[in-house]
Amino acid sequence: MAPNKTITLASGHEMPLVGFGLWKVPADQAADTVYNAVTAGYRLFDGAYDYQNEKEAGQGIQRAIKDGLVKREDVFVTTKLWNNYHAKEHAIPMMKAQNEAWGLGYIDLFLIHFPVALEYIDPEKVRYPVWWMEDKSVRTAKVSIRETWECMEAIVDSGIAKSIGVSNFQAQSLYDIQSYLKHPISALQIEHHPYLVQPELIKMAQKHNIAVTAYSSFGPQSYVELENARAQDTKVLFEAEVVKGIAETHNVTPAQILLRWATQRNIAVIPKSNNPERMAQNLSVLEFDLVSNEIEMISGLNQGLRFNDPAFYLPENPLY
Ligand code: NAD
Repeated sequence: MAPNKTITLASGHEMPLVGFGLWKVPADQAADTVYNAVTAGYRLFDGAYDYQNEKEAGQGIQRAIKDGLVKREDVFVTTKLWNNYHAKEHAIPMMKAQNEAWGLGYIDLFLIHFPVALEYIDPEKVRYPVWWMEDKSVRTAKVSIRETWECMEAIVDSGIAKSIGVSNFQAQSLYDIQSYLKHPISALQIEHHPYLVQPELIKMAQKHNIAVTAYSSFGPQSYVELENARAQDTKVLFEAEVVKGIAETHNVTPAQILLRWATQRNIAVIPKSNNPERMAQNLSVLEFDLVSNEIEMISGLNQGLRFNDPAFYLPENPLY
């Protein structure tokens, strides 16, 4: 089994440096996929209400515990609060319900998924709301990030979450939360790959002891299947000459180079694959080191190119 490392979070808890992403893992396959990932050696699972598979992913972990593969404390579960539930009266019940769906007693890391509050939609009416309402309008809600952050702190106090953090936030909101927080921002999860490096944001977060997790480490790869035009028009990172050349030097795959480029800078990664060979490959990314010149060459591919950009479907409601 490939060795893993951990990052010590500001909360004092340890978070594995390499984990497994659950976005687009179909609910009816999630239990088996997660069980297989535990068998392959994964100890961190990155979920979200929005991924619609929390219960099933939790069942996979429960089965792995029952079969003696791991204990609860060996596994690190991250999940996220969706935009329609930012208000206090919705956030706390929702996070409790999510914790129950996972069925593991507690959540290791709870994140605010996006720094934007949308109008509440009763889950009984629409179980998994997207960014827009039925009439395609986008309706923001008058809920401050402070109100939501205080709910995150409340779930730490009540034992539901061990650590809390944010996702898709920029420096401005991190500074703001820091002015009133009682529990630290343990983690920041952002899109991060050689086409979107965001070096200043990462430097700021790490300086403030906020652990950074990269999502979509393979850049456009994850968005081609969503028919995202920007992704379809962009050269696949696995085919970038710099990445291919460095992969040949180290006798590993381009995917492993992209993951090592992040983990070597203490940035956690959460790649997703349903393919057992790739699953194993993506976990074996701490056994070789890039030289600093190679890291710089890969960072040189930066184009500030964001693929997970709500502005694609909400041009009048940009986030960035
Ligand atoms: P990813 O970068 O992990 O890419 C997944 C794609 O790459 C899939 O098409 C997969 O088949 C392919 N792939 C995986 N391993 C490969 C390998 N070794 N060789 C070749 N191809 C390979 O994409 P992602 O799913 O966008 O991101 C990973 C995780 O990050 C998600 O599952 C989710 O947990 C998280 N995420 C979070 C947010 C957020 O807003 N916080 C947004 C997107 C993703």
